[in-house]
Amino acid sequence: MNETDIPEATENAPQITPQTLAANLRTIRQRIDHACEQAGRDPSAVRLLPVSKTKGNDVLRMAYAAGCRELGENKVQEARRKAEALADLTDLRWSVIGHLQTNKAKYVARFAHEFQALDRLRVAETLDRRLQKEGRSLDVFVQINSSDEPQKFGLAPADAADFIRQLPQFSALRVRGLMTLAIFSSDTERVRQCFVRMRELRDRLRQEAPAGVSLEELSMGMSGDFETAIEEGATVVRVGQAIFGPRDLPDSHYWPGSG
Ligand SMILES: *Cc1c(COP(=O)(O)O)cnc(C)c1O
Repeated sequence: MNETDIPEATENAPQITPQTLAANLRTIRQRIDHACEQAGRDPSAVRLLPVSKTKGNDVLRMAYAAGCRELGENKVQEARRKAEALADLTDLRWSVIGHLQTNKAKYVARFAHEFQALDRLRVAETLDRRLQKEGRSLDVFVQINSSDEPQKFGLAPADAADFIRQLPQFSALRVRGLMTLAIFSSDTERVRQCFVRMRELRDRLRQEAPAGVSLEELSMGMSGDFETAIEEGATVVRVGQAIFGPRDLPDSHYWPGSG
């Protein structure tokens, strides 16, 4: 499937109502707060990034009306189209959370506030050059493959230190932390191992982080596993279906090897 084939609005899934969307948001925030309390963490230290991929502009406007001021999108073209359609919502921030091809970096540099899937220097270099041109800067997360699945995007944990050492030369990129997709498994302990590995890696990298590189953030946890991620130190959870309802497109469209 090509990116341009993405439907404008979901056609098969029933349209979510503003009430249900607002209630879902409240429930997820409560579950986040509860998980923080259980783990002895400050709930304000965990940010909820609602992930709106496949959802139409009308649903995104509902999310805005319910209080969302940032949205995560996996694909650049889809994000860009939505950012244009919703440009009147001037305080809405866009986070691109999926793999980026170098030739699409220019779009991200134009509209995104955050990019969570940095895993190649070529992309860092292109983003930086384009951002300098636009007079903008961008928060970035370095994506790590925490499950050793070969088809997953992200750097091997062992390659992260070298990679991060190169990043200060790209002055328009503000490095915030690490991002991962845990293993796709119903075995909570295997999922948890990915999160533990991420926290340990972040703690290790933080000690040797170059000046100007902040590695405070850990973006991990989705609809099915965000509470486990919070127990292990997540500071950003990316939640889609539990807020917006099921998606029409299979996840294999967004994640290699998941379908
Ligand atoms: C879609 C997506 C999510 C959210 O997944 P849900 O299961 O809908 O919560 C999180 N991270 C990335 C990178 C995604 O593409």
